[in-house]
This record gives sequence, structure tokens and C-alpha cells, in this order.
Amino acid sequence: MTSQAQGLSKIPCLDLKGQHQQIKNEVFEVFEKVYEQTAFSGGPFVEAFEKKFAEYTGANYAVGVNNGTTALHLAMLVLGIGEGDEVIIPADTFIATAWGVSHAGATPVFVDCTADTWEIDVTKIEEKITSKTKAIAGVHLYGQPFDIDAVRAICDKHNLFLIEDAAQAQGARYKGKTVGTFGEMACFSFYPGKNLGACGEAGGITTNNEAYAKHLMSLRNHGSTVRYYHDEIGYNYRMGGLEGGSLQIKMKYLEGWNNRRREIAKRYLSEIKNPKVKMQHQPDWADSIFHLFVVTTENREEMMAFLNSKEIYPALHYPVPCHLQKAYAHLGYKTGDCPNAEYLAAHCLSLPMYAELTDEMVDRVIEAVNAY
Ligand SMILES: *Cc1c(COP(=O)(O)O)cnc(C)c1O
Repeated sequence: MTSQAQGLSKIPCLDLKGQHQQIKNEVFEVFEKVYEQTAFSGGPFVEAFEKKFAEYTGANYAVGVNNGTTALHLAMLVLGIGEGDEVIIPADTFIATAWGVSHAGATPVFVDCTADTWEIDVTKIEEKITSKTKAIAGVHLYGQPFDIDAVRAICDKHNLFLIEDAAQAQGARYKGKTVGTFGEMACFSFYPGKNLGACGEAGGITTNNEAYAKHLMSLRNHGSTVRYYHDEIGYNYRMGGLEGGSLQIKMKYLEGWNNRRREIAKRYLSEIKNPKVKMQHQPDWADSIFHLFVVTTENREEMMAFLNSKEIYPALHYPVPCHLQKAYAHLGYKTGDCPNAEYLAAHCLSLPMYAELTDEMVDRVIEAVNAY
């Protein structure tokens, strides 16, 4: 009997439709306001979101931009990072962490992750520090904070900046405190698939430093604070009004959505008992928002095929670690340089994770993973 005959519905890794149907009326109302005010670029809807997001993260400032990659680029520029400089980042992250460094003209230096948390391996950072190192950009991978205090201690010892790549971690907490103010700056993505995603492309930077915030606001807007006067070479990295408006609405639901993900993750963590399947270790100090629920298994293709036969469709985050991407071939990394990140890339599988998964869908995922 085919699964269709059994009446099983497909469970994708991520489904954005449920969430957007729930809030459609509210979002369309704000879209109408943006339209009536023709506040399409920057403006009051972006500012209102920035204020809410700053409050949420506990930061003095939140500066909205057009995506998470440009957020990282501007953070590097504001810290004076450029040609000839090096920035340490984990090898297992979405590639955009490295783009932020490269777009500023600096060189990303990749560090392996640990074998169990898959976060940057703090014990392997210091051997990568040179006279050119200017900063460490840690990534809260899959929504779980990295060991911020340990990385901060290395930054302080070597006089380096700390940047949080919090693109996957809107609302995650480290030792009880929301991420976004641990580094000099924290960079967020509001890509639609993130826990907090705009109806469009968007990103932002949080900081407690007024000078940084002012510089970010100028750089995103053509290097200008007074219209048509340009103090330095700038960028057009502004956030759109429709994006700001939709984010403002979604802020109200973020904590609830994150908590539902936490609830689902708790079930996965306690009810998945298949010895062939390993989950991301959750240290006591990490309160993840489970942007993704990644597992590893020896024979990924076999597990994938098995889950697909049960109408469950995991995804891969990410199949190639940054240091082995073709784009960085010129840096001369080779297989074996970051063994844990390489293992993760070759064996990872992301189980369905989004707030609208029903309890029955979660049951089905758990049963299927255990039956594999
Ligand atoms: C999504 C993401 C980014 C980039 O964000 P965009 O909005 O897609 O440009 C950066 N870093 C990490 C870790 C991400 O997951």
C-alpha cells in the first residue's frame, strides 16, 4: 500500500504557509498602511520594528538592514575590519557568516566545531590567532548559543572584537539572557525561513554602542546622515517598509512560536531513542530556539529514504562545510582540516521543525525516526 493510500500527509522540514495564513489579516492591514503612507523604504514602520526588536534583545539600538549578509558586512566595516585582516569563524555555518568577512575585504579563518554541540570549538581558536586577527564571529548555530563566555575570554585576552552571528537565534538565551548584546554587535537575518522572518528580505544589527549604531545607520544609507551629503562611501542596505511592517506584527508572536519549537524539540530529545541517531547536545547554559532540529546518522541516504517513505521530508543544513566550499578554494583548506564540521556536513539531516507542526505530526516524526 502506498503512503497516499494510507492517507498520510507530507511533513516537510519547514512549512511557512500555516504561520502566514494565521496572521494574514493583520499583515495585510499593515501593508495597506505602508502603501497609503508610501513608506516603502526605511521610515516609520522600520523604526517601530527597530524599537521593538531592541527592547526584545535588551540592546540599546537595533538597526534594520536589507538582509543578514549585509548586517554582517556592515558590522565588520564599523569595527574597522578590512583588507589584510582576519576574522575567525566556525567552519560549520551558513556561508553568509564568511561572506560578511569577505565583503569587507578581510579573510575568514575557519575553526572546527565540537563533536557534540556542533558549536565553535573554543579549544581550537587560539592556535588560529595571528597578528592579523581582528575579531571572532561566533554563530548561534541552529538557534543554540555558542559558549559566549569562553569566546569572550579569548577575545579579551587577545584584544579582539566579538561579533554574534545571531541570524538563527532571535530570542535564544545564554545563561538566561537573550542573545544580541554579548558581542560588540550582533547580526540578525529576517529571511522568511528564520524564526523571525519578514514577508520579504531583511536583517538587522543590535548593539549597545551609540557610535556603532550611528555609523551603521549612515553606512546603510549611502554614507549619509544629511540628505545628499555623503561623509564616506556608503551602501544602499536599507530595510523596506513592507518588511518592517510585517516584522512588527510578527514580533508579537515570536515568543509563542519559539516556545512551541522548544516544546517540539523537548519531545524529540526525550522520545527519539534510536541508537543510530545522534542529536545536538544541549548544554545547561544554552536555551535554544531550535531554528533547526539537526540530527546525525551514519547512513544518511538510507535514513532519508526511509523517512521519505513515511512522507517525511528532512533537509540538509549544510552539506558542505565553509572551508571546503569552492568559493574559498584559494585559501588552501583541505579535507581533514576541520574533521567534526566535515563529519556533520556528511551525516546531518534536519527533522521537521516549525511552530505549526501538530502533536500528531510530531508523533509521526518520532515514530518514524525510532522505526528506522
Ligand atoms: C541566514 C543566515 C545568514 C544570512 O542571512 P540572509 O538574510 O540570508 O542574508 C547569516 N548567517 C547565518 C548563520 C544564517 O543562517
